[in-house]
Amino acid sequence: MRILVLSDLHANATALETALAAAKGRWEGVVCLGDVVGYGPDPNEVTSKIRELGAQTIRGNHDKAAAELMATDDFNPVAKAAVDWTRSQLSAENVKWLAELPHGPLETGGLVLVHGALQDEDEYVFTPAQALEGLLDSAAGVTFFGHTHHQGGFSYSNAKNNLEVLSLRPRASESYAALRIETGTRYLLNPGSIGQPRDADPRAGFAIADLEHEVVEFWRVPYDIAAVQSRMRTARLPEALVQRLSLGR
Ligand code: ZN
Repeated sequence: MRILVLSDLHANATALETALAAAKGRWEGVVCLGDVVGYGPDPNEVTSKIRELGAQTIRGNHDKAAAELMATDDFNPVAKAAVDWTRSQLSAENVKWLAELPHGPLETGGLVLVHGALQDEDEYVFTPAQALEGLLDSAAGVTFFGHTHHQGGFSYSNAKNNLEVLSLRPRASESYAALRIETGTRYLLNPGSIGQPRDADPRAGFAIADLEHEVVEFWRVPYDIAAVQSRMRTARLPEALVQRLSLGR
């Protein structure tokens, strides 16, 4: 089964629709690594779309904050302003759905899903040292994580005792780059962020995992960023959040 892996959608309906159009007909199951809402202008649209798709979803820190399961004391003022706005917009039904999301790690379809790190859903995994525990301790050979909004990941080969950083972003002229999954190697992979990429590529990121054929595709698709920015300005979301979408930072 080919599994569409979405993460960090951040209430960006245009990016989500564009990604789903690009992935159409290429998957049979869909999972979501959290941060459905927060930052973007379309919290209800995106939450409803993920519910409608029936995506197996775990919660992210922004979902917890929006559902008031987490205080926002640790959030910077810009992120906090976005949380407050998101809370004011979400329907009661969508808040309830967000509040009931399970936390990772979650095993599904031969994969393990986490939002941040394997042991701590709110922790960032940027470096090989931070990736090591997840690579070694995960219940599956292929684990997907989000939270950093950086597409790529890490692999660990027991036989070679070798931890590798995987740079998997497709080039500007390409839609996807494929990773061959090797037997005896463990993977901690980030599909990239749909709604707010931070790896210097503003295109929406996602992955399609086909474990039977031992391949994971890492996708990037351009979307109408200006349309999202215009809705954000109308909603009076912080200007810093508006501008970072064009930069992919
Ligand atoms: Zn996020």
